[in-house]
Amino acid sequence: MPLHIAIDGPVAAGKGTVARLVAQRLGSLYVDTGAMYRVTALIALRNTVPFEDEEKIVELLKQNKIEMRNPNETEQDGRLTTVLLNGEDVSWDIRTEAVGQGSSKVAALVKVREHLVEKQQEIAANQDVVMEGRDITFKVLPDSKLKIYLTASTETRAKRRHYELQTRGQDVTFEDVYKDLQERDDRDMNRAIDPLHVVEGAWVLDSSNLTIEEVVDLIVERAKELKG
Ligand code: C5P
Repeated sequence: MPLHIAIDGPVAAGKGTVARLVAQRLGSLYVDTGAMYRVTALIALRNTVPFEDEEKIVELLKQNKIEMRNPNETEQDGRLTTVLLNGEDVSWDIRTEAVGQGSSKVAALVKVREHLVEKQQEIAANQDVVMEGRDITFKVLPDSKLKIYLTASTETRAKRRHYELQTRGQDVTFEDVYKDLQERDDRDMNRAIDPLHVVEGAWVLDSSNLTIEEVVDLIVERAKELKG
């Protein structure tokens, strides 16, 4: 049985950084499912299709080729994952606030979720994965032996995201980042289909007062116990 580590949590809780490092330490595959919703939003934007147009977006998703992999030697620019859209590297194009907001709108569409969840389950079928997102613990990998809800205070998360955007040269105010983050969390936690929530039995890890290394150590330790 492959070891599946499922991590959910709100915006900027550190899921990506933590999941990537845990996967590296365990020799598992890191899967950023948020990137799939982000690339979906990018496709809608580029084709000027409204984020609400479910049929058209699913059709476009099927027509476009999306690939995700670990960054290679020439791609070590701070990204956690490399995303290709019809062969074009869009790893950074999907990280803007506009795409972030769009991603949580397309993520509320039932057919988009069905399509992407199926892909995510296929990826995890025969291998060890550390998969992070908003519905991994209860929808994508409900049988996972290690379910984690990674969170931090809104203030801490907004500070981290603001710093991250600034270091990437994006000129945004802290207030705007804070507001965007709250809006997106609100949409993700209140949508009709598979809203983000803490699943029974999940390990709730609050990283507000922990370093990344401390969080990673805690998860790796637990994973090793489970592997025996
Ligand atoms: O994790 P990230 O912030 O990149 O995800 C972007 C958006 O994709 C989230 O705000 C959420 O709306 C959506 N998402 C989701 N289910 C997942 C992963 C992401 O609904 N498993």
